[in-house]
Amino acid sequence: LVSRKKKPENTIVDVKGEKIGDGNQYFVMGPCAVESYEQVAEVAQAIKRHGLKLLRGGAYKPRTSPYDFQGLGVEGLKILKRVADEFDLAVISEIVTPADIEKALDYIDVIQIGARNMQNFELLKAAGQVNKPVLLKRGLAATIEEFIHAAEYIMSQGNGQIILCERGIRTYEKATRNTLDISAVPILKKETHLPVFVDVTHSTGRRDLLLPCAKAALAIGADGVMAEVHPDPAVALSDSAQQMDIDQFNEFMEELKSFQKQF
Ligand code: PEP
Ligand code: MN
Repeated sequence: LVSRKKKPENTIVDVKGEKIGDGNQYFVMGPCAVESYEQVAEVAQAIKRHGLKLLRGGAYKPRTSPYDFQGLGVEGLKILKRVADEFDLAVISEIVTPADIEKALDYIDVIQIGARNMQNFELLKAAGQVNKPVLLKRGLAATIEEFIHAAEYIMSQGNGQIILCERGIRTYEKATRNTLDISAVPILKKETHLPVFVDVTHSTGRRDLLLPCAKAALAIGADGVMAEVHPDPAVALSDSAQQMDIDQFNEFMEELKSFQKQF
């Protein structure tokens, strides 16, 4: 169902009026984890200043260590909803349990399925059974073929509103947290009719690489770029090393806007 051979025209995923996949390039910005209303609202304000609409933030955080901050859970979803309503933004947030999919529908506009859950087939099926866009991230060690099959799981249940997101894969290279597989973008766009985003934060794990990698994503034809922004990354409860502060985010957006004008 996700194959371009079956459906030659691009799928457009409508997120509160943003027509993702329509040829424009979108930006999904926000903190790694929801920590407080004030924290999310400060980022929302910055996003608004750039005319952006898509706010990200994790309420359920799948962390490598069980002793790291696990997220605020439903309290986090409530904060996201409040901020989205106040600033007229659309919210993208990760859900990690099939039973939470239904509950999340009241709070968020896009269900994110994270890299660690790309092959959580029960979660994929649950996300496929609701009428809500899904942003599906590539697994840490998933081939493009496995990634496409994961999207097929969602679509086979009836939900065709899927955005794919390349977020880096595990390789032997240690200079970056993961290796951004930039060629996955044109391959996924050739093989499927779905929009494709690039997450520059989790792929690189390095603040200094966010801008060049975002430029690469835009130049290669990604439908959107995701990156993390936090009012004070030094005290962030997760991904402290790679989130941008508000000034860095402003500069990042200005640079990308002038870059976009070049082509
Ligand atoms: C995230 O986007 O918050 C996240 C945890 O990313 P990933 O699943 O790609 O690691
Ligand atoms: Mn993060």
